[in-house]
Amino acid sequence: MAFDDFLREIGNFLKEDQIITDKDNLSHFSYDATERHSLPQAAVLPENTEQVSRIMRCCSMHNVAVTPQGGRTGLSGGAVPVTGGVVLAFPRMNRILEIDEANMFAVVEPGVISNDLQKALNERGLFFPPDPSSTVDSTLGGNVAENAGYTRAVKYGVTRDYVRGIEAVLPSGETITLGGKTLKNVAGYDLISLITGSEGTLAVITKITLRILTRPRVRRTIVAYLDDLVSAADLIVAVFRTGIMPCAVELMDTIAINTVAGYLNIPLDRTAAAMVLIEIDGHSEDAVDNEARELHALCRNAPGTFDVHLAADDAEADRFWLSRREVLPSLKALGKDHLEADVAVPRYKLPFLVRFVRNLKHGDALRIATYGHAGDGNLHVTILYRRRNFAELDEAYRLLEQIYRETVAMGGSLTGEHGVGLTVMDYLPLQLGGEVLPLMKRVKDAFDPKGLLNPGKVFKGPDGSKKR
Ligand SMILES: Cc1cc2nc3c(=O)[nH]c(=O)nc-3n(C[C@H](O)[C@H](O)[C@H](O)COP(=O)(O)OP(=O)(O)OC[C@H]3O[C@@H](n4cnc5c(N)ncnc54)[C@H](O)[C@@H]3O)c2cc1C
Repeated sequence: MAFDDFLREIGNFLKEDQIITDKDNLSHFSYDATERHSLPQAAVLPENTEQVSRIMRCCSMHNVAVTPQGGRTGLSGGAVPVTGGVVLAFPRMNRILEIDEANMFAVVEPGVISNDLQKALNERGLFFPPDPSSTVDSTLGGNVAENAGYTRAVKYGVTRDYVRGIEAVLPSGETITLGGKTLKNVAGYDLISLITGSEGTLAVITKITLRILTRPRVRRTIVAYLDDLVSAADLIVAVFRTGIMPCAVELMDTIAINTVAGYLNIPLDRTAAAMVLIEIDGHSEDAVDNEARELHALCRNAPGTFDVHLAADDAEADRFWLSRREVLPSLKALGKDHLEADVAVPRYKLPFLVRFVRNLKHGDALRIATYGHAGDGNLHVTILYRRRNFAELDEAYRLLEQIYRETVAMGGSLTGEHGVGLTVMDYLPLQLGGEVLPLMKRVKDAFDPKGLLNPGKVFKGPDGSKKR
């Protein structure tokens, strides 16, 4: 059998403990943070690029599907091995290879945990802005493959804005090296940007060169509670008219506030319909304090605001930011199933989207939580339902499609940061019409003519049916 031949062949150059085939241990590699799961036939743990290259060559020779996997925190099912085959996981390629303070770059292997890089940089007074809320579990390889966002993206940009070099292995087993430590590079097509955000469908990332920054010395956090969610969205639009560029502007609705307050047992105002969290950072204490004062006054005078608070110190600010980071885990802890629309709209459309979601008609059994990186126009609209109840399942998907259609009608995107993977794939034609999807498929075919790398993602299968 082809798969046994494949296993025998990779066994010639990998150690026994680098190849996992027993079902109990394989279940660990069968899921991510969505509700999807599928068991692979094997999981392989390479230790270096040379091994990745040889594994990919064997996959190509024996027509074995490969799904790259990072921390499995993905929220679109990208790391789920839907067609079986092999999972390529990187816990043994987790070294920070270099922190180059002279040029301000870090060079990392794909399995480095996001938070480990942050800690290493923090010790030197440096930082790498892209830090998703999943920081303790997600990997740099996964973040680059998803072009991950995070709370500070509104000021600092997304992961793609920091990737300057990539080493990757193509499905054929060839290794390519792109870019490096230059800040400017326009030699040929921008394949670094193409691979960044390609969700493991074009190439396997084996080394990443990332731009890093000096950590801002001063930060201030403002918390505003409002009695109306649409007014909160209006306030967020108004913040950006002041000319001040906050590094984070986040929104939480009453379900998010109440759920996370209970989950973490922290004193948030549970009577509020909405909470807006704003952070300003910089290197000058006077400048940051002036901006904080101006935004504090703006919040206080905004329609619907009934309380505004300036965090007394970084420790208190961290508690507020923890509450934002833990919204999704707290919603999951309610024990319901959830569908999440990671939609992004032009920022001035935010109040319209929020109003649309609030006015959606649905049965009492379902609940819709709205929170997210609202400063970017990016909301995570999370529908809580019971998958085993078919009426609730149908209703949840009906609501999801309504939200997607409205987002596209507003000139928005079906996913702001979590990617297409499995969960958005069926709806992608709503946003990408005409020749766009076929052109993307031709790009995929150019990288992966046999269709072996992360199959069943991004592009709808030939049956065209919706996958739930
Ligand atoms: C609690 C929580 C909070 C979150 N917060 C955020 C947030 O603030 N911002 C945000 O953008 N996302 C967030 N996410 C989603 C998720 O954490 C990100 O998408 C993250 O970047 C995924 O990284 P990962 O290492 O877990 O990748 P995985 O989930 O393992 O994989 C994600 C994709 O990357 C591919 N991949 C992984 N490694 C490689 C590689 N070496 N080469 C090629 N492809 C590869 C996989 O095939 C898959 O398609 C959150 C998730 C959770 C559960």
